Amino acid sequence: MPRPRTTLVALTALTAGALAAGGPASAAPAEPSPEERALAVGTGGAVATVDADATRVGLEVLASGGNAADAAVAAAAALGVTEPYSAGIGGGGFFVYYDAATRTVTTIDGRETAPLAMGAGAFLDEAGDPLPFDEAVQSGLSVGTPGTPRTWVTALEEFGTWSLSDALQGGIRLADEGFVVDETFRQQTADNEEKFRRFEATAELFLPNRALPEVGSVFRNPDLAETYRLLADKGVDPFYSGELAEDIVQTVQDPPEAAGAEEVRPGLLEGIDLALYEAPLREPTRVEYRGLEVYGMAPPSSGGSTVGEALNVLEQFPLGSLPEVPVLHHYLEASALAFADRNAYVGDPAYSQVPLAELLSDDFARERACAIDPDAALEKPTAAGNPDGEYGLCPAESEPTVGEGTEGPSTTHLTVGDAEGNIASYTLTIEQTGGSGITVPGRGFILNNELTDFTFAVADPTRPEPNLPAPGKRPRSSMAPTIVLHEGEPVLALGSPGGSTIITTVLQTLVNRIDRHMNLAEAIAAPRASQRNTATVSVEPAFIDAYGPALEALGHEFTVSEEIGAATGIEYLPGGLLLAAAEAERRGGGSAGVVHDVLGSPEAAGPDDPGLAPPLGDD
Ligand code: GLU
Repeated sequence: MPRPRTTLVALTALTAGALAAGGPASAAPAEPSPEERALAVGTGGAVATVDADATRVGLEVLASGGNAADAAVAAAAALGVTEPYSAGIGGGGFFVYYDAATRTVTTIDGRETAPLAMGAGAFLDEAGDPLPFDEAVQSGLSVGTPGTPRTWVTALEEFGTWSLSDALQGGIRLADEGFVVDETFRQQTADNEEKFRRFEATAELFLPNRALPEVGSVFRNPDLAETYRLLADKGVDPFYSGELAEDIVQTVQDPPEAAGAEEVRPGLLEGIDLALYEAPLREPTRVEYRGLEVYGMAPPSSGGSTVGEALNVLEQFPLGSLPEVPVLHHYLEASALAFADRNAYVGDPAYSQVPLAELLSDDFARERACAIDPDAALEKPTAAGNPDGEYGLCPAESEPTVGEGTEGPSTTHLTVGDAEGNIASYTLTIEQTGGSGITVPGRGFILNNELTDFTFAVADPTRPEPNLPAPGKRPRSSMAPTIVLHEGEPVLALGSPGGSTIITTVLQTLVNRIDRHMNLAEAIAAPRASQRNTATVSVEPAFIDAYGPALEALGHEFTVSEEIGAATGIEYLPGGLLLAAAEAERRGGGSAGVVHDVLGSPEAAGPDDPGLAPPLGDD
């Protein structure tokens, strides 16, 4: 069935005007969009990030003829300056790309790796007990080989048209000239203050004059500007085998604590780990959901498999014709089931057999779906299924898998769509907000603590544990950069930060958009709930207010979490329009922009305009 087309009379008339006035192919500079906006509609390309400066940098690239890959790398480099606690060259991420010319989706795995010297017991103490989480985070031990610089080069070489040097210029300018500190940046610094004070270089950089940066002040990072200039001049070789590599290894092996601060555990990273680092291209995950093709990130991320499995389960139910509460009940149950399987089966595929094809098969989904009772919530945690290729209906229960607790708002996701239809959906991170807390002295960036994403100790000796540390292994991730096509044509893309809640944020937003018929900005803004196979569902306060009693009557129990995720997305609307969507409130609000704005301010955009939410997929 072709993708339904809505008559967007008013919108399309505006598009025609915009095309006549410049059009997507024009190299006219982007109209400035300094304000943080949750919704923008227009032509020429769309960018959505958590930050207005990064969105502007991405839009400038598109307006000067760069494509979605060029703009995504440039915006990511800008985020390394303005969101240094969530993203940067000291971390890793996953880059999912739709190439309009070949109509294919490809992914880059820029996940950090464990040092070759790291064994399965790396996060156990001398007595064999798991290290306290914070102790592991704030240490050299948690630092994995960073994948972000290699991801940027690979993205540009494989999909882009710009050089790394050109793509870094926006970030260099921002680092030199500075950005205006907002409440979110100040609060994130405050939340990390104790950790940052443990490391001299970090305190010097992020606590200027030993105090929290003031809201409204300008924050510059000349060291990072210099580091970016080095990469712009010489490529990423200095990072993986030259002077930067030496500094990184030295810093990890002997973390430079501040005078008087307690010593932290040293790390195991060596020059060989950096020298051998690769960011391989991987096949995306793919499921069909109501006639749409949903592509995601394959293992070592559990994002694509878990979102995909949950969608397959949900497809067994006619959500489009159900009232809100049953839709949400099914969403929570499908998510719990998919998480049970994620926890049992997903890890780095180079180290364990991940039954990915079975986890994403419709037959397995049908078997899993029969565990859902429309009138009563399953007891959580629930048992993993058996993705062995032999499916009947409603198999006997086995032992439950262990669920996951609440996650913080670390990491960042950016989404870019260009006028040709190329899409970059890119989630990057240094793991916790503020990462390991260890800045490489004189280089302007914080090192990740990604290796704490490994499972520290075997929880259930009767099952193999797919996510224990091992030499060179990539820890299991939840990052879920997602692209949705219809018959090979671009429809939408999205992603979010938030640890394992990333998966539920992406899943819930897709359900909101496809089954609940919200436009993408509304789908992102809607109150969130995250069921990751735990006894209680993490929910935002507004979710409880709206649906709490009705879902409690079905047996769901809740734990309040002030904020879940910080999503961004873009959508190709009928009539040649692009929509960019970001958070209105969460994390201080994100920033959605288009190269040629056809609707002006969010008020004029009429966020309730049904033209912004054309029906997607089959009901
Ligand atoms: N390290 C997390 C993951 O890869 C992302 C960090 C976060 O968003 O909390 O799943």
